[in-house]
Amino acid sequence: MSYRLSIFLSSLALAAAFAATGFNLYGQVDEYFETELANHSVRFQNVFTTLNEALAQRAQALAYSIAANTEIQRLLVEASEAVHIARERNGNNNNARAKHVRQALRKQMERQWNELRARHEMRHLQFLLPDGTSFLRMDAPAYFGDVSTAVRPMLAGIVQDRKPRSGFEIEHTYAGILGMAVVSHHTPDVGEHVVGIVEVGFGMSELLNRLDKRLNTGMALLLDNRRVSDAMLKDYRPTMETHQSFILAASRPEAGDWLKEGLLPATSENLPQNRLLAWKGHHFQLIASALNDYQSQTDPQASPLGTVLIWRDITDRIKRLEKDRSAVVVNTLAAWIFAQFFLLVLLYLLRREWARQLKQNTTAFENLLQHNAMLLNTAANGICGVDRNGRITFINRAALAMHGFRLEEVMGRNLHELLHFDDSIDHPSSEMSHLYMQTLEDGKPRESEEWLARRDGSCFPAQVAVTPIFDQGQKNGAVIVFHDITEQRNRQEALLRLATTDSLTGASNRRHFLDQLETELSRQRRHGGRASILMTDLDFFKHINDEYGHATGDIVLSHFVHIVRQTVRRSDIIGRLGGEEFAILLPGDGTEGARELAERLRRAFESNPAKVDNIDITCTVSIGISDLRTDDMTADAPMRRADEALYAAKAAGRNRTVLYDPAWQWAQPRPWDETTPALCATPPGGGI
Ligand code: GH3
Ligand code: MG
Ligand code: MG
Repeated sequence: MSYRLSIFLSSLALAAAFAATGFNLYGQVDEYFETELANHSVRFQNVFTTLNEALAQRAQALAYSIAANTEIQRLLVEASEAVHIARERNGNNNNARAKHVRQALRKQMERQWNELRARHEMRHLQFLLPDGTSFLRMDAPAYFGDVSTAVRPMLAGIVQDRKPRSGFEIEHTYAGILGMAVVSHHTPDVGEHVVGIVEVGFGMSELLNRLDKRLNTGMALLLDNRRVSDAMLKDYRPTMETHQSFILAASRPEAGDWLKEGLLPATSENLPQNRLLAWKGHHFQLIASALNDYQSQTDPQASPLGTVLIWRDITDRIKRLEKDRSAVVVNTLAAWIFAQFFLLVLLYLLRREWARQLKQNTTAFENLLQHNAMLLNTAANGICGVDRNGRITFINRAALAMHGFRLEEVMGRNLHELLHFDDSIDHPSSEMSHLYMQTLEDGKPRESEEWLARRDGSCFPAQVAVTPIFDQGQKNGAVIVFHDITEQRNRQEALLRLATTDSLTGASNRRHFLDQLETELSRQRRHGGRASILMTDLDFFKHINDEYGHATGDIVLSHFVHIVRQTVRRSDIIGRLGGEEFAILLPGDGTEGARELAERLRRAFESNPAKVDNIDITCTVSIGISDLRTDDMTADAPMRRADEALYAAKAAGRNRTVLYDPAWQWAQPRPWDETTPALCATPPGGGI
């Protein structure tokens, strides 16, 4: 990966990390804000519900205390009686007596009513007959005689079971929190019995205003249009109305505007709601919950009567929220810029350090290469490397010097084609059979002596070691180390010569000659064929020594061997048995051929005297001849026979060749047996 790509990718990752963190923080700010709104919503609703319930209890208690007033009890007994008479006589709920009692009751309550209105925010006080018929409304004295038990479950309940109760309900002239209690009267004849019902209602606006002050929130009660229309008399309905709702009470005027502009929940369905409202440059949190009346408190199936609206101005809080959001964005950006800068600096420093280390390692590597090259080039051995296909990958100076090539001539070329020397032109060795090719094949090290070619076509013997190169477990070539062993070979050959030849004449020494004779005998025993042996002895050699000196004698001996070499074939073997006695092994020759050769040799020696200090020193040779036989168990047998023939030649006068005659053993005694060395004796086989 390139440096630029690394920078790009790491910067991208960093930016992604910061973007994710930024989004997360942004989300947390929003989430905190939402939680705050939700907490406020719950708190406000709880406060409202608690105060609502407290107010209901207070209304009920107040109704109870009014019901305890004996004068009121008495007046209600009278009222019941008057209405009863009116019903019987007139068929309605009113007559003069009832009117009188109503005025008396009103007068009785007048002072208390004014006080309750002023001090305790009482807005509704009604006295009803035990059957639920309205007898007197202190807040609407002109309106009485109605029975609303059918539309008022709370009233119907108390008429039925006489138990006090409280809750939100819409009455003909009043909508709000009501408390009810029965008025009882005790008479000796009837005992304790119900004579009426007292109903007390508090002003909702006052409640809302108090809450507004305490919580610093706007509050409004919205009543369902249909429910108000069904239950309230037209003159007593709330003044603010839209086609959906009446505003029963509101602590701040904006609720009316919102209602008109349709910004508030249209119906009491889908409540509660907690939402934000932007209005005239201000932001409000608007909490709308269901306004439950007495019926919906007791009957979960009943629909709410309307909506409780609570709102607060959160313009400052929204500003703070936006500030928090901006702070998150700005801080994240700043942190990202700092981190990006830090990353770039870090990457730059890392790159510089890597470059320094790379340079250091490269220098070390180059030094190592130089050392290796120096080692390779100063090594006395030839060293070269080949790849897995046998092509030369490196070669040192010693190898080039040995082969006579220049570096550029060999690099990349096939080692086998270049350096391998094969003198068996008719049977060229296969490439794979070659030493290092086998190593490339099986991965095993090898060592052997090889003939290697020079550039000029000549060759030299070399000791070659091949070591495979493995790269991660795979054969990847080989290293070939070799050195010229010409001198070593020469030394070995000299030693061999020393051990096997006669130093004066160059002929095989006695022991070596006998070995070769044994070898020829065993070859003949295995494969058959013919071979002969000549036994030679120079005539009167002692005289030459005596006359010319020992050194001259030596020259004559060498001269004799020289003549022999010129006469015989390369494959024939000449050995010095001792003194001036020589034996010649003629593989492949029968006695006839041997005899012919012996005669040629004899004549050649006789007619080519050795020249010492310009003096011709003539000498002759006597030769005994025998064949080699398959029943000859040792070299002694043919040697003895040839010796006998030589002896015969000497006896016959010397300077002649005599063929061993087998008949000598049986027919007659050997001539030299009787006459000891008789120089004049004639050999039985006849000389040439
Ligand atoms: P004959 O014809 O009977 O063989 O006579 P001859 O003189 O050759 O007799 P003989 O074989 O007894 O003598 C061989 C002589 O060769 C004896 C010895 O002094 C001489 N001789 C042996 N070895 C060497 C040698 O290495 N150098 C020289 N110069 N003379 C040698
Ligand atoms: Mg001799
Ligand atoms: Mg002799």
